[in-house]
Amino acid sequence: MQKPGKATPGPLSLNTATVKVQWSLAECIEGCLRHGITGISPWRDKLAEYGVANAARHIREAGLTVTGLCRGGMFPAIDAAGRRAALEDNFRAVDEAAALNAQCLVLVVGGMPAGSKDIAGARGQVQDGIAALLEYARPAGVKLAIEPLHPMYAADRACVNTLGQALDICDALGNGADDTALGVAADVYHIWWDPQLAAQIKRAGRRILAFHVCDWLVPTRDLLLDRGMMGDGVIDIPAIRAQVEAVGYDGFCEVEIMSSENWWKRDADEVLRVCVERHASVV
Ligand code: ZN
Repeated sequence: MQKPGKATPGPLSLNTATVKVQWSLAECIEGCLRHGITGISPWRDKLAEYGVANAARHIREAGLTVTGLCRGGMFPAIDAAGRRAALEDNFRAVDEAAALNAQCLVLVVGGMPAGSKDIAGARGQVQDGIAALLEYARPAGVKLAIEPLHPMYAADRACVNTLGQALDICDALGNGADDTALGVAADVYHIWWDPQLAAQIKRAGRRILAFHVCDWLVPTRDLLLDRGMMGDGVIDIPAIRAQVEAVGYDGFCEVEIMSSENWWKRDADEVLRVCVERHASVV
């Protein structure tokens, strides 16, 4: 058994949400270069601002690895037209991920349509949506990473809430445990509390396509925008990292901190400096 925190963590990637208030995508790319961060994971709004071709060229010239594109998903809708529109948007997201040579398209699958109380129905719509998207993404060479979200988001953001649930979808739609066209994004913020975590990481194996880090603050003051910097909360990040590495994950640690009251108010270079420090000391 590896001593937690002893082995060097995989390289660091910046999820642009971490400094989304301070910086454009171009500034994020340049910031990564200044701070020795070798991966980046853009959000689609930043990408649209910059233009996909411009962003792809800039990232390539900077030599950064695109560890993911955030995000596709949001499949459920109140009617067929809404579901079709969501799927079309996901096709565009796959195109963008391909243009960026992203390691995966992250899927935040969506919650329940407005007015609905049918979470089972929403989960069915999610699975149908991913099935249709996989047919488009597989030939494009874009891997789909289902990101289970903490259950507090089940109504409005993601009705897939555990790694086990995400892997059930992978098992239903993929071609077995070696098929990485469809996998999962393991974000410590969303999965740390799960009593099944260790077993489900083992089950996931090579299907862990991304590893996201931040921390869970006590108390958490905002359900969406009060994520903590690694080391400031209660998540044993090295223990989870050791588990994902034990099943073969050898990719980046992607830092993703949405923090309206703290980190979004700071100088972005300071934020990146602290990310680099904490990545070395507590991830
Ligand atoms: Zn994440």
